[in-house]
Amino acid sequence: MDGILFDIKQLAIHDGPGLRTTVFFKGCPLRCRWCHNPEGLSPAPQLMYKKTSCTHCGLCRKPCTHEECRPFGRCLHICPNNLLTVSGRRIGAEELAARLARINRISHGGVTFSGGEPLMQAAFLKELIPLIRPFVHDLAIETSGYADPSVFHEITEEMDHIFMDIKLADPSMHREHTGVSNELILQNLTSLYGRTNVTIRTPLIPGITDTPENLSAIKKLIRDLPHELLPYNEFSPVKYEMLGMEYPLKR
Ligand code: SF4
Ligand code: SF4
Repeated sequence: MDGILFDIKQLAIHDGPGLRTTVFFKGCPLRCRWCHNPEGLSPAPQLMYKKTSCTHCGLCRKPCTHEECRPFGRCLHICPNNLLTVSGRRIGAEELAARLARINRISHGGVTFSGGEPLMQAAFLKELIPLIRPFVHDLAIETSGYADPSVFHEITEEMDHIFMDIKLADPSMHREHTGVSNELILQNLTSLYGRTNVTIRTPLIPGITDTPENLSAIKKLIRDLPHELLPYNEFSPVKYEMLGMEYPLKR
């Protein structure tokens, strides 16, 4: 079957131990107001357009014969300033496995599934994992934990490292700032208690997740699991502009 990805990053050093290849899955059920990867939210391919540099020459609006341009109503190949790209590419599990094998022959590193939310494409992951296990000896997942518990259990059991976000302990604040309840996430968290290959992460969003009340409530929820606090980096909302989206964390 096909999966849909928005990036494959080689030589990553922050997505698990050692050198890694990080595979970014498109689609996420959450809408965190601070999300740095807005191109990973929708499960479908999306046009990205650098509107501010457009001279409105109209060339991309003229009819073209490229199959891949048809869904977007614009020619993706004609812009003299290269302002049009598409985020999201369909790829078969065997093709991705072959690509990861070629990368692995050079880097000998691990592979991390990230996103978006990789568990939104669990069926694709289930097909991919046995194809790459013979040559990738270290698999990791970065997940929001928002997934059906049986899917969460099945995929995390296959992983050497699990990085799971717990962003907000309070259910109503969680809903307000991420768009979903944290009930399912906390249910899945309980299935990780006692495991030795889990790291819980909390992004420190000023005034939202970084409050002493939230951090101490999270500490209680995660019990003895290792906890990483991720600093909030000031972020340019340029990717939101390219997608025609509003950056929700306006201050
Ligand atoms: S071809 Fe490029 S510059 Fe011309 S209208 Fe399209 S996006 Fe703008
Ligand atoms: S879970 Fe991650 S990818 Fe999804 S909206 Fe939140 S920050 Fe973005």
